[in-house]
Amino acid sequence: MIRVTEQLIDQIREHGRRDYPYECCGLLIGKFESDGRKTVLETYAISNAREDSAKRNRFLITPEELIKGERYVASKGLDIVGFYHSHPDSPARPSQYDLEHAWPTYSYIIVSSNNEGTTDLFSWEQESDRSKFNEEQIELSDKL
Ligand SMILES: [Zn+2]
Repeated sequence: MIRVTEQLIDQIREHGRRDYPYECCGLLIGKFESDGRKTVLETYAISNAREDSAKRNRFLITPEELIKGERYVASKGLDIVGFYHSHPDSPARPSQYDLEHAWPTYSYIIVSSNNEGTTDLFSWEQESDRSKFNEEQIELSDKL
């Protein structure tokens, strides 16, 4: 289960809207709780590193960007608990590409975007053998 505020969900949706028709992506920053849940305290927007032609269907975070993000997170004493990205004009479920480029433990929030804004938003967690994703429950709260 992942805990997140409405405000952060709005930030993810806003990023998805802004980058349409391209995929947006970013980090979910927060804490791994002792009960196995994750709490998201901040989002960290990352540019889409792919070339224009591929930007529409797959996201990629460059190692440089990830290192920069990790430094930022460490400076705040927090963890990267997951990643978010958008699926322009396609459902908010992980693609085969996503499955091959994900790691268990992290949360993957995917939002579906179109020319009017964003629609479905789901969080996914990869099975420990990396064979598939399972939907993860999102617990929305006013404040954390
Ligand atoms: Zn994807």
